[in-house]
Amino acid sequence: MFSALRRWRRRRAADRMQVSAEQWDAVERELPFLARLPPADRPRLRRMALEFLADKQVHGAEGLVVTDAMLLSIALQACLPVLHIGLDAYADWVGIVVYPGDFVIPRSVADDDGVVHEYDDPVLGEAWEGGPVLLSWFDDGAAHDGINVVIHEFAHKLDMGNGEVDGYPRLPADMSAGAWAAAFQPAYDDFCRRVDGGEDTALDPYGAEHPAEFFAVMSEAFFETPELLHGDYPAVYEQLSRYYRQDPGGVAEPR
Ligand SMILES: [Zn+2]
Repeated sequence: MFSALRRWRRRRAADRMQVSAEQWDAVERELPFLARLPPADRPRLRRMALEFLADKQVHGAEGLVVTDAMLLSIALQACLPVLHIGLDAYADWVGIVVYPGDFVIPRSVADDDGVVHEYDDPVLGEAWEGGPVLLSWFDDGAAHDGINVVIHEFAHKLDMGNGEVDGYPRLPADMSAGAWAAAFQPAYDDFCRRVDGGEDTALDPYGAEHPAEFFAVMSEAFFETPELLHGDYPAVYEQLSRYYRQDPGGVAEPR
């Protein structure tokens, strides 16, 4: 948890940052899904992004120079999911490493015979429990509609908030684990069936890899292409809407 001192320091550092309206506008133009936010949430997101940057250390890897525009863009996208949850959800680590494009992570797995296999895994991002978030950066910005590496990796961070990376984040007191499972499990099973059957799904088929990836991919869709998510899995949309306390598609059931 954030200490009061850390929170105070974060606010004070954010107070000192100077970002012009032109700089914000230029960065936000590349993030068209922010237009879904209610007007009052736009300045709130900017402010949270500054506090996020005051609290985190962002490094470029492989010679990548991280510009102010990149910092602001990553911060806005990272803060969008926690806009109504609070920045303390990201309290347990500070590092963010940005790669120029996709990158490989060396892995080793032991097979059933105990033989260890080493291989390079090409990825767009990775989130380590208690450790840094690794992100790839593409100069063409948003690149694909509905795919958002930043939201994806930070959704994994939220998932880790209660230990296991299993697609079950720590839920607020007014939500039920049973209702979460009743929405996600059949949707995941259905999605796996469709992907395994070769269907060209509108939602990213990577979500069929694991329940944790399903949560991360559905979170990307929730913020970027909420109509698609609501059309395919309305119960998942409802749960995410309650969890994130947002309704980007403007379709959540009144509570
Ligand atoms: Zn993932």
